[in-house]
Amino acid sequence: MPPGAVQALADRLGPLLDPGAVLSDRQQLRTYECDGLAHFRVTPALVVFPRTTAQCQAVVRVCVAEGVPYVARGSGTGLSGGALPHADGVLIVTAQMRTIHEIDIPNQRAVVDPGVVNLDVTREAMPHGYYYAPDPSSQQICSIGGNVAENSGGAHCLKYGFTVNHVTGCEVVTPDGEIVEMGGKAVDSPGYDLLGAFVGAEGTLGITTKVTLRLLRAPEVVQTLLAGFAGTDDAGAAVTAIISAGVVPAAVEMMDALAIEAAEAAVQCDYPEGAGAVLVVELDGPAAEVEHTFAAVRRHCRDNGAFEIRVAVDAAERALFWKGRKSAFAAVGRISPDYIVQDGVIPRTALSEVLRRISALSSDSGVRVANVFHAGDGNLHPLVLFDETIEGQAERAEEISGAILDLCIEHGGSITGEHGVGADKMIYMPRMFTDDDLVTMQLLRCAFDPPGLCNPGKIFPTPRLCGEVPGRHKGTHPLAEAGVADVF
Ligand SMILES: Cc1cc2nc3c(=O)[nH]c(=O)nc-3n(C[C@H](O)[C@H](O)[C@H](O)COP(=O)(O)OP(=O)(O)OC[C@H]3O[C@@H](n4cnc5c(N)ncnc54)[C@H](O)[C@@H]3O)c2cc1C
Repeated sequence: MPPGAVQALADRLGPLLDPGAVLSDRQQLRTYECDGLAHFRVTPALVVFPRTTAQCQAVVRVCVAEGVPYVARGSGTGLSGGALPHADGVLIVTAQMRTIHEIDIPNQRAVVDPGVVNLDVTREAMPHGYYYAPDPSSQQICSIGGNVAENSGGAHCLKYGFTVNHVTGCEVVTPDGEIVEMGGKAVDSPGYDLLGAFVGAEGTLGITTKVTLRLLRAPEVVQTLLAGFAGTDDAGAAVTAIISAGVVPAAVEMMDALAIEAAEAAVQCDYPEGAGAVLVVELDGPAAEVEHTFAAVRRHCRDNGAFEIRVAVDAAERALFWKGRKSAFAAVGRISPDYIVQDGVIPRTALSEVLRRISALSSDSGVRVANVFHAGDGNLHPLVLFDETIEGQAERAEEISGAILDLCIEHGGSITGEHGVGADKMIYMPRMFTDDDLVTMQLLRCAFDPPGLCNPGKIFPTPRLCGEVPGRHKGTHPLAEAGVADVF
């Protein structure tokens, strides 16, 4: 966008927002050039910070009127480049919309702004004996708006489900600048499940400006164990045994030797010495049920080779077990200057086999891979290590990273479990979906956003209809016929 046009846009947006809520200085804009996937970088033309729904709507309306692309951003912790800006566009940061409007205990709901930090919902609900279940490892900083867009998961989503299971309503500024309510405090509303489509749409169907969340009663008892195994084969077999026995733990997390090494270096979590893999297993619920199932979990760990099992005696020890796991992504920085956080899913019965294949890929290529992941639901997070300053290493790491996703698909899994497709994994979408699948998905997108201005260039690989639809299109598209979209 020419500098004059950027200035004109800034002049139009400034009066619609609070003082200082438009950034146009090049240096300041660079702060927003990437999310947690730092090797994708684009400097936006402008960054704006709406504080209210009305301000957000006003910004979207100007963008639509001027044909300017825009991208929503929460805390910027996304790991797939979902909040990657558009070079000729406006980055709409909702992180300053931070009000918790209601903690409605009788209805077990919270109504919050999109910029509210995930953990703050639980902090606010805890005094009432309630909490918000989805707990991404980034929960101390990531925003509810980002969680909704990514349908984020976390360690406890095995038992309680992902964000989509905990959002009952959203207020949204649609891509045509209207404010609509999808759902509310009730568990269901008649008609098409547009809220279901919106959650996990990675910010491509509009901007969330208020979210109604389900609150859960805090469990009576929580029991956590840490089990050390010789390797991931044994640990994987223990996971399969636990779940096959009908036990649904709140969380089952696995780390392999390299991930343990990194966590020890960073946070001294004191995991069992010599372990080739550890499991953190947590059970919660009524005391009698937890006592019974916890005994079964210990037995399955022992039967599958656990050489050390520790049970957290109090909240401090539980926190230490979790500290190693929750800090593992960042901790890998201690053992490698650069790394890719991969996110793929496999059926959990394939855990041992796929981990063996990842290990073979790693030793064949010489690229180190640390594994730390949600083992209970087969959501792998291989951390592919490299050093960007050594020629060819980044490319080799990308290759291994892609080969791991191929393994996931081959085993009937998925190219993403919780981090989203964003800008990072668009190229893998055709490996998992047919052209018809992709076109059908994009028809939904076009129905929300005919001009394709809302977070364009994400999720889908080849631009076409509404600037997004890949693949060959047969006949005249209904939206083109109706004169609301162009096919090119
Ligand atoms: C150390 C670390 C650990 C992590 N652990 C987990 C984990 O355990 N589980 C997990 O699922 N993820 C995890 N993540 C990824 C990330 O934290 C989540 O995807 C999170 O939901 C992103 O929230 P955010 O506020 O940072 O969103 P951003 O990164 O700012 O944006 C993410 C997406 O949401 C869209 N968006 C943001 N706000 C809005 C809005 N108001 N309306 C519409 N769209 C919007 C953006 O356009 C973008 O597509 C982790 C990340 C890090 C860095």
